[in-house]
Amino acid sequence: ETIGANFERIAARFPYHDALIEAAAVPGEEARRWSYTKLNDDVDRLARALLALGVAKGERIGIWSPNCAEWTILQYATAKTGAILVNVNPAYRSHELEFVVKQSGMRMLVMAPSDRNSDYTGMARQALAACPELRELVFLPDAGAEGLTAGEPEHEAERTYAELLKRADDVAHSALQARMAALDPHDPINLQYTSGTTGFPKGATLTHHNILNNGYSIGEQLGYTEHDRVVIPVPFYHCFGMVIGNLAALSHGAATIIPGRSFSPAAALEAVQDFGGTSLYGVPTMFIAELALPDFTSYDLSTLRTGVMAGSLCPIEVMNRVISEMNMKDVAICYGMTETSPVSTMTRSVDTVAQRTETVGRTMPNLESRIVDPVTGEVLERGGIGELCTRGYAVMLGYWNQPDKTAEAIDAEGWMHTGDLARMDQDGYVVIEGRIKDMVIRGGENVYPREIEEFLYTHPDIQDVQVIGIPDAKYGEELMACVIMKPGAAPLDAAGLAEFCRGKLAHFKIPRYVDVRESFPMTVSGKIRKVDMRQEAAARLG
Ligand code: ATP
Ligand code: MG
Repeated sequence: ETIGANFERIAARFPYHDALIEAAAVPGEEARRWSYTKLNDDVDRLARALLALGVAKGERIGIWSPNCAEWTILQYATAKTGAILVNVNPAYRSHELEFVVKQSGMRMLVMAPSDRNSDYTGMARQALAACPELRELVFLPDAGAEGLTAGEPEHEAERTYAELLKRADDVAHSALQARMAALDPHDPINLQYTSGTTGFPKGATLTHHNILNNGYSIGEQLGYTEHDRVVIPVPFYHCFGMVIGNLAALSHGAATIIPGRSFSPAAALEAVQDFGGTSLYGVPTMFIAELALPDFTSYDLSTLRTGVMAGSLCPIEVMNRVISEMNMKDVAICYGMTETSPVSTMTRSVDTVAQRTETVGRTMPNLESRIVDPVTGEVLERGGIGELCTRGYAVMLGYWNQPDKTAEAIDAEGWMHTGDLARMDQDGYVVIEGRIKDMVIRGGENVYPREIEEFLYTHPDIQDVQVIGIPDAKYGEELMACVIMKPGAAPLDAAGLAEFCRGKLAHFKIPRYVDVRESFPMTVSGKIRKVDMRQEAAARLG
């Protein structure tokens, strides 16, 4: 089944159920709401407009916008026409935009209204001038929010979203049906650039089969039905929002709820309260920010039952509070990567709290996992730490136009090499030990930062902590703890930290340096860029 066909089938089953709610951007205004019927109609209208412009199967259409309803509508409209949706990170600036436009051979770019920080219109015009393959810009409306300026078309390559939709009248519904009938589930439908946590982003090429099955399977594990209301504060441009969010919810008849353009802890909790959210998503730092709201206890979170935490390791402390204080007793940890659609292992509601705090669960149905020695490639005994590899339906076709990178990542037997260190117990539960690139080798000992981070979280004054390795003349690498103190707490120094660790951690795991910070450098999908932290720290220490 293709994504478009699946959506039509679900829409026919639950025509009057909520499919999509976007919280009002302006306080006091009404939320925007779509039933399944209305959403399907709007998707069809946009799909027909794309056909009117001559969009062919396999052509690349970019979306460069924070979360909004039109993002979802375009996701499904491109799926119905067979065009490949290219998710462009809203934090990209002109240089990165041009890279993605050129790398993907993008024909059309649909973009957000400009805001104070991002002149999307201006940067897109530069790309239009610089990239001959890019032929059309489409300006999304500003939805009445303050500080946003929708682009105004200046020449024939530019049009507003409303003008684009008018073109739908030129194409009959039967033409769209004919196009949909000509699509194959194994066609590429989505190009997602990896987060760029460890280097330059690569374009994972994903099919209907990859992402629809993965989304459906995630929804099944979470027990989604037409009664669920899934609050999605994580970005759509990333697979977390688009697959674990939209595809998982909408393939089960559940509603998707957009709290706002960008993450705000208060808006996320308000959306749960106002729309009866049953499921809430976030990377660990988002849950940390929600739990830290001064008025946290005033939100009514009683409708919540589940949710997904993914993207990076979750401190056990935080997990326990999410379960007990946010009412998310069925919260799942998902592990995965863009290249595997994304989810390859997750915890299930039968899993104990301990399994959900200490592991990333077991392999998803219809996928395989194994742990290999990163050097020899040999499969390790259960319990051994090595590189996690994934095989099955969710593995991408490859990196777009990068056959050499694809060959490095996916071996001849179809195993995707994740670049993550992990171990698997006798029952198949997987524990992520960090990235191969983040492992610290201090004086010949392998040190896994996560273990130290978990321990430091138990310090009463530490709100958030990351441990990194920095170059050291004597030991090769030395450990540095980068900490964010709790409000009001006195900054910690190296002696104080060592005192706290003494007798509890082996001497070679006690960080030699402490860096007290206000925040960590993040990717827009909420991942901490340890590469940047290592570089900054190394530069500072000379
Ligand atoms: P790049 O590949 O460009 O360096 P990236 O790997 O961060 O960036 P993504 O595909 O968005 O790009 O992220 C996948 C990675 O996120 C995984 O390889 C893993 O390191 C990390 N990750 C995802 N889920 C979890 C989780 N539940 N626990 C720990 N780490 C996770
Ligand atoms: Mg990666």
